[in-house]
Amino acid sequence: MRYGILSDIHGNLPALEAVLAALRSEGVDQYLCLGDIVGYGPFPNECCEVIRELNCIVVRGNHDEAATTPGKEVWFTWAARTCILWTREVLTEENKSFLSSLEPVKKLDDIVLCHGSVPDPDFYTTTPLEAMLTFRVLDRPICLFGHTHYAGWFEYDPASRELPAQYSAPNGARLTLREGLLYMLNPGGAGQPRDGNSCAAYAILDTDEKYFEIKRTPYNIAETQQAIIEAGLPEAMAARLDYGI
Ligand code: ZN
Repeated sequence: MRYGILSDIHGNLPALEAVLAALRSEGVDQYLCLGDIVGYGPFPNECCEVIRELNCIVVRGNHDEAATTPGKEVWFTWAARTCILWTREVLTEENKSFLSSLEPVKKLDDIVLCHGSVPDPDFYTTTPLEAMLTFRVLDRPICLFGHTHYAGWFEYDPASRELPAQYSAPNGARLTLREGLLYMLNPGGAGQPRDGNSCAAYAILDTDEKYFEIKRTPYNIAETQQAIIEAGLPEAMAARLDYGI
């Protein structure tokens, strides 16, 4: 099976369209989305509609939950809160019910999908020790996660006494999957990368050829920035897209 993986779209339609064009040219059997379709960005309805039409397997991100759950935004920064309150206002009833129908964890044959971590969808998995919280409960060889907007992976040998190895891949990289090891794989942020590369991030997981590959594609950043300003969202949300932070 060849999976096209995307995460953290955050209402950035030009980025989403660029990633899907790239994945279409790669050829994939199934799309997987690791949450945060909305929040921060100016095209939440459009992004929900594109994802719904894809027949994509999706898990819920913290912004997807906050967009449909009043009160959840109190934990957000001022800018994130401002964006999520605006998103809540503009989302259609249909897209709200789509977002509320999403579950935090989904399991496929060999893969577990989650947003931040398996035990807690809001948890940022950024270090080998934090990755252990998921590896300890993982009942499949592969966990796909997002939330950090950092492309990379953790590789863990459950037979060893060592912590997982961590690899960051802001410029893309390919990992060969080995039998007996466990993996946490993060495609990076499609609509708001934070690993210093402003290009939209996505990944391919090929379970027949046994590899995971992180890729980047340029997109029309100026179009998203202009829409952020026109919607009256915080300017910092537009500026950060130039730098991938
Ligand atoms: Zn996110």
